[in-house]
Amino acid sequence: MLDLFSIFSKGGIVLWCFQGTSEIFSPSVNALIRSVILQERSGNTTFNHNSLTLQYKLDNEFELVFVVAYQRILQLSYVDKFLNDVHLEFRDKYKNELQGGQHMGDFDFKACFDAVLKGCEQWAKSQAKIPKQMRTFEDSQKSKKTVASMIERKGEEKGKKSVKIVEAKLTNGKPEEPEEDASDVLAARAKLAQKLSKSKKEVKKSPKSPKVEKDRTKKPRVWELGGGARDLPELDFSTDKPEDSNIIADTHLVGRMTGAIRDLEVESDESSSEEELEHTAPSPKKTGGMFSIFKGLVGSKALSAEAMQPVLEKMRDHLIAKNVAADIANKLCESVANKLEGKVLGTFDSVAKTIKATLTESLVQILSPRRRVDILRDAMHAKQEGRPYVMAFCGVNGVGKSTNLAKICFWLIENGMSVLIAACDTFRAGAVEQLRTHARRLNALHPPAERARPVVQLYEKGYGKDAAGIAMEAIRYAADCKVDVVLIDTAGRMQDNEPLMRALAKLIKVNSPDLVLFVGEALVGNEAVDQLVKFNQALADHSATAHPHTIDGIVLTKFDTIDDKVGAAISMTYITGQPIVFVGTGQTYTDLKALHAPAVVRALMK
Ligand code: GDP
Repeated sequence: MLDLFSIFSKGGIVLWCFQGTSEIFSPSVNALIRSVILQERSGNTTFNHNSLTLQYKLDNEFELVFVVAYQRILQLSYVDKFLNDVHLEFRDKYKNELQGGQHMGDFDFKACFDAVLKGCEQWAKSQAKIPKQMRTFEDSQKSKKTVASMIERKGEEKGKKSVKIVEAKLTNGKPEEPEEDASDVLAARAKLAQKLSKSKKEVKKSPKSPKVEKDRTKKPRVWELGGGARDLPELDFSTDKPEDSNIIADTHLVGRMTGAIRDLEVESDESSSEEELEHTAPSPKKTGGMFSIFKGLVGSKALSAEAMQPVLEKMRDHLIAKNVAADIANKLCESVANKLEGKVLGTFDSVAKTIKATLTESLVQILSPRRRVDILRDAMHAKQEGRPYVMAFCGVNGVGKSTNLAKICFWLIENGMSVLIAACDTFRAGAVEQLRTHARRLNALHPPAERARPVVQLYEKGYGKDAAGIAMEAIRYAADCKVDVVLIDTAGRMQDNEPLMRALAKLIKVNSPDLVLFVGEALVGNEAVDQLVKFNQALADHSATAHPHTIDGIVLTKFDTIDDKVGAAISMTYITGQPIVFVGTGQTYTDLKALHAPAVVRALMK
């Protein structure tokens, strides 16, 4: 019945293997390692690949992985027990070898394996004969609720609501989505995203929470002659002050963005929490932060699932409070639990370190893009090929597309690139003027050498024209004039607006930009995740090609307004697998940062 059982070290050495058929299993096992174990998606221990179901268990003490594979159509009720039993048997039998780190030993395990398998098959048969009984209270979902989880705290309502919805769906009994094909990570992500957007809709429908619908449509901005964005204090070119005085005031920004984009720095109070954990005697100093949650684990020998359960529950609440989507918070906790179970925490201070390292490792995996985006390098490469590097910006109205496009333009100029901005937002009144002002401003900050052309040019054709056509002409113009980078500003559109999404798909299809960036507001949290998923889906649906060009990266704006609620960033990358290329952190040209896992971890642990 079983096709494969393999025991291998996390370092990749196969210790023992049983194969029931002559089929080649390595692609499936490799897919499991690549898509689940390495990507920290180890919350779910079942994985489907082609016609196989693979189930695995981690041994964190000896750093081993136990994998069983069987045909997907089979319903084997004993697999969980079997994995556990084999795991225990193998550990007991070879603990001396494993302790000595002799992963290359001769593990004659077949007889034992057969005996355990037989035992489990008999157990399954006997279980099948027992009539179904009602679940005890301990088995039910209710028993897992803590008093703390039922208390609604101020500021946590949002997270709590989505948790409730997820639970309600689970108890519904019937599957909500088509069967998950775990072999395809994208499918899993799409499913998760769908869930998220569904939860959102249900929240909206709920009569108990009559939310006032926020008017998200952008009001046309009134532009003054020679004016700029009125709401940008630093970039405000309008009214009373003559423009020149502003230009002089801003010159201190010049030269501050050379080289790669700087990392976002998050201040944390983790040092005090860590310090606290490192002392056995309780310190009078008051500490907050996530580390304090783990104080309960101190003194445990090998960490058991039971010992970790209440702690993980708190960690999950903490993550949800930081705006991490409930499903993803669950997965992160499960992933941390899987990595910690069985670990022996020696000294007192190692608790904090181990958990921090584990969480960081998981988040690094989640936040690490599937592909690296290095704009400066790619732009140089395109230049060598004699063509401009083209970036397109899309997103809903008012999220900060034009402002952040201008910031990116500033960064490119600081790095010696010449830029052409293609004004393809031919809908919104004032959009072209806004870009014109930015271009003028940027040129004033980086004046060209005598008789040289300006570093930033604007390609504009006014309003009401076909955006895809303007973008195409702009790219052609940039190629002819040897401009290094083209930045295409597109009109803001709601993710559900089919005609506009179709137009965006066309713009991307006919112009094939090197990078399509989705601009989303960190401020709206998981709403931005919903927008991103729908943009991606619409681009795929409307492009009418086998390999549609979807979103390549994310610009997360208004990060300065969200305090430490970094959850949306995690959710966005987790769901799409696309990197957060830039974060906007304010309203000056230099307020553009890169987001890396350590900063996110610090913000999460606060
Ligand atoms: P668009 O319609 O998407 O092009 O949005 P705009 O570029 O016009 O920006 C809308 C508003 O968001 C403006 O008032 C900007 O000043 C503001 N904004 C953009 N990026 C940021 C940011 O990173 N932080 C803050 N605080 N405000 C921003």
